[in-house]
Amino acid sequence: MSTSKSTRMDVNNDESIWNEHLGINGKYVLKGDEYFMAIALLVGKRSEDPSSQVGACIVNEDQNIVGVGYNGMPNGCENKFSWEKYADNPLERKYMYVCHAAMNAVVNKNVINLKNCKIYNVIFPCNECAKILIQSGIKEVVFLSDKRCYKNETIASKKLFEAAGVITREFKYDPENSKIVIDFCEIDWDNKKKRPSVQNECESTSKKMAKNDNA
Ligand SMILES: [Zn+2]
Repeated sequence: MSTSKSTRMDVNNDESIWNEHLGINGKYVLKGDEYFMAIALLVGKRSEDPSSQVGACIVNEDQNIVGVGYNGMPNGCENKFSWEKYADNPLERKYMYVCHAAMNAVVNKNVINLKNCKIYNVIFPCNECAKILIQSGIKEVVFLSDKRCYKNETIASKKLFEAAGVITREFKYDPENSKIVIDFCEIDWDNKKKRPSVQNECESTSKKMAKNDNA
């Protein structure tokens, strides 16, 4: 199902987004904002940063994912710099070295350019990432958290986006469908097709496995 541009822009204020989640059989289907923000959150789980796992997901006008990234040290530098935040010497803090999720998503892109793309970023991008996003042609930023709104980096970032005409909006989720669970325990491992089984089968499999462990 294609999504009209106007529907995507108005998601905060009307109920159209929730209707988008209904598949042809009337069942909930993971789509749109929730899908892309969930990808950003999942990608963030790859970050080694002990205090902040941030992920980002870039989506083109055809609603295809064209880049993902998470906060990490530059390639080849992974174990050479500290994740320390409060060292007396600023050169021993992580901030000088870490590549943010949005920046990594841009440099990891699998298309020639990011013109008119949107980015789902778990937190509002900083000013350095904002510059990169603007220069890349990104036109919309969807964020989940604005926890650093008091910082100059975020204030400058908002000024930059506004000046460049980049839309920014807070992610909203459907309270009726607030959970996306991926549980490998739900896979029917005894079946060659390995399809997810229903919950009670999953529980019985766990019990069976526990029994075998105790044997
Ligand atoms: Zn940044």
